[in-house]
Amino acid sequence: MDEIRIDNLEVYAGHGVFEEENKNGQSFLISAILHTDVRDAGLKDDLTMSTHYGEVSHLIYHYLRENTFKLLEAAAEHVAEEILLSFPLVHALSLEIKKPQAPIGLPFESVSVKIHRGWKKAYLSIGSNMGDKQKYLEEAIDKLGSASKIRKVKVSDFLVTKPYGLVDQDDFLNAAVEIETLYTPMELLHFLQKTELEAGRERKIHWGPRTLDLDILFYENVISDSKELMIPHPDMQNREFVLKPLAELCPYYVHPLLGKSVGQMLNELKTK
Ligand code: ADP
Ligand code: MG
Repeated sequence: MDEIRIDNLEVYAGHGVFEEENKNGQSFLISAILHTDVRDAGLKDDLTMSTHYGEVSHLIYHYLRENTFKLLEAAAEHVAEEILLSFPLVHALSLEIKKPQAPIGLPFESVSVKIHRGWKKAYLSIGSNMGDKQKYLEEAIDKLGSASKIRKVKVSDFLVTKPYGLVDQDDFLNAAVEIETLYTPMELLHFLQKTELEAGRERKIHWGPRTLDLDILFYENVISDSKELMIPHPDMQNREFVLKPLAELCPYYVHPLLGKSVGQMLNELKTK
């Protein structure tokens, strides 16, 4: 992807672990590489189609002047998030903060922290089979939409399906959701679990009735096999109620372990 760069923007500010540093301040040098597509802005010669490096520089300057952090890590984390939330065309960025006068007591040029952050695409499965199912799904989708670290929420049609696993229970209402998020996979899982709890979900019986079930199907091409979080979702290729709505959103998305597209997995399941 194209880049817009800011090199060594100087900000005099009070970040540091020591009180003296907070009081007296020192110089920090900030470099940012903004990953963004500049093709249209270039062809049309139009700034409104791009990201204004002046505005980004001022955001960095003001943010670091108005907030004080102990760690460069914290300063970098917060500034990166502010940029990603304020400039929607910036898909990802690298941000480096140097501290050339850090109190180390040895000769050195500078110390720095550099981080890479960005919007990640994820696919979720959402289901309910208790009470007002449609309301549970709609409320959960609203919550996704209003979370600051989630954007571009797309939802498939809702699908009525027979229960899976424990079959002696009410029908399910299922859907798939595409999002972009600043959450890591584990943070996203915890956000989804909090949303389930707010919908009155109780974890009584595995595969039993539930007001709301939110699962992560894909998160970019991440593969995670910890017990708490398995991505891609380990049983998705066997569940029509997952694949059918998902195929509405991303029929060509390729499962990073099985090497098959969503559409292909759905066809194979139907012909089994
Ligand atoms: P299920 O979704 O299989 O019907 P639960 O919703 O009760 O069951 O989830 C059980 C556990 O599955 C959760 O505690 C969670 O940590 C774990 N889990 C593992 N991988 C995922 C994933 N991709 N999405 C959601 N939960 C997951
Ligand atoms: Mg679940």
